[in-house]
Amino acid sequence: MMLKKFLITAVATTALSMGAVAQDWEKVEIKTESLRGNMHVLFGAGGNIGISAGEDGVFIIDDQYAPLTDRIKAAIAKISDKKVRYAINTHFHGDHTGGNENMGSGGTVIVAHDNVRQRMAAGVFVKAFNMKMEPQPKAALPSVTFNDEMSLHLNGEEARIIHIKNAHTDSDSIIHFKGSNLIHMGDLFFNELLPFIDVSNGGSIDGVIAGVDRALHVANDETIIIPGHGPVTDKAGLMEYRSMLAETRAIVAGMKAKGMSLEDIQAAKPIEAYKEKWKSFNPTWSDQYLGFIFSSIE
Ligand SMILES: [Zn+2]
Repeated sequence: MMLKKFLITAVATTALSMGAVAQDWEKVEIKTESLRGNMHVLFGAGGNIGISAGEDGVFIIDDQYAPLTDRIKAAIAKISDKKVRYAINTHFHGDHTGGNENMGSGGTVIVAHDNVRQRMAAGVFVKAFNMKMEPQPKAALPSVTFNDEMSLHLNGEEARIIHIKNAHTDSDSIIHFKGSNLIHMGDLFFNELLPFIDVSNGGSIDGVIAGVDRALHVANDETIIIPGHGPVTDKAGLMEYRSMLAETRAIVAGMKAKGMSLEDIQAAKPIEAYKEKWKSFNPTWSDQYLGFIFSSIE
């Protein structure tokens, strides 16, 4: 299968800094990979950027951090001399929307679920990182928002933007490029990483699993899957992630049902075997992940 070509292993950084940690932006490696037809992916810092570049112009999915905008635009210019007409935000987190103001003030139309606009306009607190996101200026806010699903018809195909309720946050979308047979998962998929679930902003483990199932339902063996973080993969890779989510959820649910506290569950280290394949952002990340499950199930 040609898919092997798409199994990109080198990811410059998967740092989940969300803008909270000072970064040396010059050191961030911006790397673009061609996937299929009009579709490309750009790795840098923050969420993976999906790119459709074709006869009607360029549109992108997520835009990482503001200090990277010029370099991201330069990388896109190597693919196409056309304008970035639209930027879709998969959710409101700053490592996916940090470039919005630069893009928006440059004439790009920003598209996202209603809650992305609402949360960015109001300002947000992300408990897991003890991080406050200030209310964003007008140019950074999505000017086209939707409630459930919508489509962009560009570059010879339909890009279906599908809201997934209460998953990584309460503002998530996955984007299905039907013609290209490609799905951008946003942060419903952390490939090769234990995920972050922003329970403080409406996220839940069951929503993440439901979102993954929604994607699996429309995927086939040829589908290219772009995760929010980590390397590009395929349906089999997403199924493996789904198994890990369901198994770790069952472990925590079983222990919680026996009356164990979160601290007891963390002390029992019940998911060590998963940490080989599913890496941690920091030394206590697997404990935090157990907390995301614990606090989002009955
Ligand atoms: Zn996120």
